[in-house]
Amino acid sequence: MPINIQPILNVMQSILQSVGQVNNLLPPFILPSSLLPPSFIAPPIAEGILYTEMEIPVPQPPGVTGLPPFVYFDVSNLFTAVQKQKIRDSISGTLFSWSLHMGQKWNGGLNNGLSQMAACSNTYATRNLRPIWYFGTPIINGRQATEVAMDQFTQLIKDNGFRRSPRARIDWTYIPNIGSFIITTTRANTAITTTRVPLSVTVNAYQVDHPNTPVGVLIGSMLHSWLHRAGFLDPKTTSYFISECPMCVMRGYGPKLPATPDPLFYQYFD
Ligand SMILES: [Zn+2]
Repeated sequence: MPINIQPILNVMQSILQSVGQVNNLLPPFILPSSLLPPSFIAPPIAEGILYTEMEIPVPQPPGVTGLPPFVYFDVSNLFTAVQKQKIRDSISGTLFSWSLHMGQKWNGGLNNGLSQMAACSNTYATRNLRPIWYFGTPIINGRQATEVAMDQFTQLIKDNGFRRSPRARIDWTYIPNIGSFIITTTRANTAITTTRVPLSVTVNAYQVDHPNTPVGVLIGSMLHSWLHRAGFLDPKTTSYFISECPMCVMRGYGPKLPATPDPLFYQYFD
């Protein structure tokens, strides 16, 4: 049974007439949305109003064929232009890390190279080496985990760039630190499938703006989030692949140093 809206219109008319905004709501009526009380304004259709599409060039590492020229993200308009630039830099940096690995592994066509990312991860990552969708030959070390993860990034990039995945959203949140404790930087759910996975991430605008958050930290945080989208699981602590791999990137693939203990890095993971 259809809902009878006439009583609602009558109430609206009396309210709006009392503030002198409108003379007659009864049919036929055309009511500018600016005159409607907020609860009567339909939420805007999401794309193009709440979000603006950002396109980011995809590096073209040797040995990887069929890549799209761009990946695409619907970025919340709640971010400032400066914040959007930092988000762009963090995604570009993640793409660069992937591309560097793929090129080094390609090794001029032999496809047997040990990339810096794989070598570093092999040294430090010993746990949760398997993405949750993976049931192939057991992954026994950090090098193999890196190769599986970066091949899955290739899949994520292709599905995004050829628009096979649902649109990837960069959503806004704003959560200040509690003291020196960082609540969140970038956050993504762990994906359970391999194809058509959107590269959707929530980004903390507070942390992006924080003067102690350099772009290298944002890249590591974004890469951690993408590893979730590639099926890898937390905890985000020492020896776990989802932590050690982005920490390797944040250290420029160098060794761990006593002056910079792991929590200084993985506090930016979520
Ligand atoms: Zn995580």
